[in-house]
Order: sequence, then C-alpha cells, then structure tokens
Amino acid sequence: MGENVAILGLGTMGAGMAMNLLKAGFSLTVYNRTASKAQELVDAGARLASTPSEAADGASIVIGMLADDAASREVWTGKDGVLETVKKGAVLIESSTVSPGWISELAGYAVQREAELLDAPVTGSRAQAQAGQLSFLVGGNDSALQKATPALKSMSKEIIHLGPVGSGAKMKLINNFLCGVQVASLAEGLTWIERSGLDREKALSVLKSGAPGSPLLGAISARMVNRDYAVNFLLKLMTKDLSYAQVEAANCDVDLKTAEIARSLFEAAIAKGYGDEDMASVIEPLRTRRGENR
Ligand code: NAP
Repeated sequence: MGENVAILGLGTMGAGMAMNLLKAGFSLTVYNRTASKAQELVDAGARLASTPSEAADGASIVIGMLADDAASREVWTGKDGVLETVKKGAVLIESSTVSPGWISELAGYAVQREAELLDAPVTGSRAQAQAGQLSFLVGGNDSALQKATPALKSMSKEIIHLGPVGSGAKMKLINNFLCGVQVASLAEGLTWIERSGLDREKALSVLKSGAPGSPLLGAISARMVNRDYAVNFLLKLMTKDLSYAQVEAANCDVDLKTAEIARSLFEAAIAKGYGDEDMASVIEPLRTRRGENR
C-alpha cells in the first residue's frame, strides 16, 4: 500500500483528482458532505470517511477541493474538521480557489498542529481533472512541496511553485479574473454577433483565429452556441472568484473595474436561475433581455 492520502470534496474537480490518486496507488480516504457522491471511488478502492477528522486521521497528506472560503473553513476547522486529528508533520494541501486571507489564517492553524500548509489551486477543468492533466499553482515551502510532489504529480501535467504560502491563491485569482472578464465580454460579443446579421460561425472563426482567440474563447463560445450548459465550471463559482479577486486586488490598491462589471453579468445570470449551470450560461440573460429566445 502507498502513502496515506485523504481528499475532501468530491465535486466536479475533486472526484477526478481522487480517481487519479487511486490509480497512482495511494491508499486513499475520501470525504464528501454528500456521501453518495463517493460511491464510484469506494467501488474503485477508496475508503469513505464520515467526517473530515476521520478522513485526516493517520493521513500524511490531506487535500481539500471545496467550493469556497466558507466550505474550506468548515472542513478544515469546523466541528469534526481535519485539524482535530491531523498528525504532526502532515502536509495539508488546499486546492480550492479560496482567498489569500483565508489561506494565511489556515496556515497559522496548521503550524499550531505542527503540520504544513500548501495552497495549491489548479487551472484546468473537469476534463483535465479526470485526465490527471491539471496545473497546480503552489504557495508554500520547499520541504512541504517535496513531500507532496508524488501526490500532486499523479493529478497534474505541471506543478508551478510561485513562492511562500498564499502565492498560489493570489495567482489563481489573477488567472480567474482574466478568465471571468473574457467570458463576460464573450457573452456580450456573441449576443452582438447574433443580432448583427453576420454569419455567426464565420464571425466566431475570425475571433478564434485572431488576436482575441484563446482556449477559453474556443471552448466557451462552442457551449454558448450549442446552449450546452452541462457543468464544467459552475457559474456561481466564477462569481465567487471575481469577488475574491476584487478584494485581493484592492489589498494591493488596484480597483478591478472590469471585474465589477463582469461580476454584475454573472450575478444577473444567477438571478435568472443559472447559478448551478456552467458559466457559459452567462449569455442567456443577454440573449433574452430584448425578447429574443434563440
Ligand atoms: P463543486 O462541484 O461545486 O464541488 C464543491 C465541493 O465543495 C463539493 O464536494 C461540495 O460538497 C463541497 N462543499 C460545498 N459547501 C460545503 C460545506 N459548507 N461544507 C462541506 N463541503 C462543502 O465545485 P468544483 O467545480 O469541484 O470546484 C472546487 C473548487 O475548485 C472551487 O473552489 C472552484 O472554484 C475550483 N475550481 C474549479 C474548476 C472547474 O472547472 N470546475 C477549475 C479550477 C478550480 P457537496 O457535494 O455535498 O455539495
């Protein structure tokens, strides 16, 4: 049996990550608030814990892949949380997209338990999590990262060490700020194309092969065109990322005006019931505002 690893949070991302840890031979314990989501992993050989503290008991590496600051706080520090049982010398890896402020607080709790924290949020989405092709953006010290590297490698194509604790969380918010603004502007641009009389496919191919072209524009425009909102990235999570980005940038005296506007589009989509669909559905309120329903 390999090293004892625990992973908490088996949503869109955590489920794929957990499966790759199992495939790599780690002895894996899983926890999810909604336990039924763990069944496939249990069938594949994972042990199911009924609380985060039970999952962390005896684990040398504990990974969190949770929705937001509140979920992360609950799982690490709440009643029956990881910190109740985590062993001395364990490496705690917070891979959720959370605020650097929360990471700094959590790092302090880890020290009290004589454990070490790495913030290691990811880029890539559902497909990359399933394929073990994520990129980890890591903050923390070298020795903790060295211990965590075999586990991180089993889930990723690259591990980028950006600096001390908090560096990964900061980088991730900058990354998702740019993504969120691009998705919001694409929603407006595509709505404009659809009302302009231009051939939609031709217009999109000009954008994709031109200067604005990006992997994100390619993937999200296809989902918008097909109205395929099966979840790769929940719309409500992008809204969360933009709001954390605004707070973090303000700490550096930067006013993210474009994030504010992008976030207002995502919030309008939440108000129309799209919060639990893919973020590409941010286009729908724009399409319907003037009575259109393509
Ligand atoms: P998700 O599918 O919504 O999963 C969220 C997880 O958090 C679930 O396991 C959920 O448990 C758990 N959770 C939520 N609130 C909780 C609470 N109060 N207490 C305990 N557990 C709670 O999200 P995801 O797409 O996997 O994303 C996970 C993280 O990675 C997020 O921070 C997201 O921003 C980030 N991220 C996502 C993507 C992407 O493409 N999806 C890419 C990069 C980074 P239940 O199952 O019980 O609800």
